[in-house]
Amino acid sequence: MAAPAPAALEDDPTVAALIAARPLLSLHALDGLVLEQVPLSRIAEVLGTPAWVYSAGIMRARLAALQAALAGLAQVHYAVKANDHLAVLRLMAAGGAGADVVSEGELRRARAAGIPAGDIVFSGVGKTARELRLAIAEDIFQLNVESAEELEMVSAIAAPLGRTVRVALRINPDVDAGTHAKITTGTARDKFGIPFAEAPAAYARAAALPGVEPVGLALHIGSQILSTAPYRAAFARAAELVRALRAQGLPVRRMDCGGGLGIGYRDEAGASPAALAGAMRAAFGGLGLELMVEPGRWLVGPAGVLLAEVVLVKGGRFVVLDAAMTDLVRPAMYDAWHGIVPLAGRDAVAPAAAVDVVGPVCESADTFARARDLPRLSPGARVAVLDAGAYGAVMSSTYNARPLAPIALVDGDRWAVIRDRQPHAELWAGEHVPDFIG
Ligand SMILES: *Cc1c(COP(=O)(O)O)cnc(C)c1O
Repeated sequence: MAAPAPAALEDDPTVAALIAARPLLSLHALDGLVLEQVPLSRIAEVLGTPAWVYSAGIMRARLAALQAALAGLAQVHYAVKANDHLAVLRLMAAGGAGADVVSEGELRRARAAGIPAGDIVFSGVGKTARELRLAIAEDIFQLNVESAEELEMVSAIAAPLGRTVRVALRINPDVDAGTHAKITTGTARDKFGIPFAEAPAAYARAAALPGVEPVGLALHIGSQILSTAPYRAAFARAAELVRALRAQGLPVRRMDCGGGLGIGYRDEAGASPAALAGAMRAAFGGLGLELMVEPGRWLVGPAGVLLAEVVLVKGGRFVVLDAAMTDLVRPAMYDAWHGIVPLAGRDAVAPAAAVDVVGPVCESADTFARARDLPRLSPGARVAVLDAGAYGAVMSSTYNARPLAPIALVDGDRWAVIRDRQPHAELWAGEHVPDFIG
């Protein structure tokens, strides 16, 4: 006997409400769901599914809006890890943003996309000696150091080379960002940053060490933050520290305020750049600091969708897609809510019923939505999973030997493939079977 259909637990936004809240997404009777001016079903026809589609227009508009809110106040360094595609990095650089990287690979990607080393900040809790040597050789803008131990490593590598590294000390302000536990980074039990109480000694040590020039402080308290209260609390502590360091005669000229601005996935309002700017002014105004921010999600999250096709509908209850947690892991990893919208105009207006939307992977976590009211979908119907531009393709895996999905970029009425579907043979291309196993 088929399992009973689940009852929708909450009032999820309707398909029409989801589309209405997203400026460059529209629904047309013939073309169906359209991103900027390109029908998404046309891209799905060409690329097949699953496939990612990014909107250049949305990314540009969001960067411009953020820069406008921070004009004359702070410089933007885009957090590459949110979406590291070369075309996305080019767009950000063309819009005037620098890059915030967290690994050798991201540093090399940013350079490959044409971002000057002088526009790159390197963050991360466990940079290896090899990564530090590369950052020093490239003479990047700023290295965000996360521990007293890392500070000693940097000095030991840079001093013998006769180099001086501009270092910001990432402090842990011990502030709860009120976000999901897996993306909270600024409380004392998180691995990130130098404990607040130990920061003055670490800063003094940085000023005394050869090969290191402390230029300021950095913080990043978490991701998908929707209220300014945690920012205000963290900034107040950082400002207090700036004053204390200066009172000791230590030079502090920069403050890197981190990223973390949240977006509206369901029907919540996204974070406001103007409110962030207000919090920065309130805490740091008058201190004469060069201010920086390093957002990722806010800039690119709303600019991407994941296209998928319904393989079958099991017992009227489970809508099984050809996309999986291996493509978009956010629902499985963070219990994230993503809007799901049919691509065809007639599907989008069909009567709704509550279903579970799942992928084909052999894990119960491979679930995109539970008890979601969705228009009735038949096998072969296509859907878009919304707001998948950040922490989407970058977090994909090839578990279940599923190749990485292709990516298209839309810009006005033009679109181009910016990553091919990974061929199956590439999945085992670097593997070796030794003779001795027969
Ligand atoms: C991940 C990260 C960011 C970006 O976070 P978002 O929530 O995507 O804005 C910024 N800075 C650091 C140090 C990070 O680790």
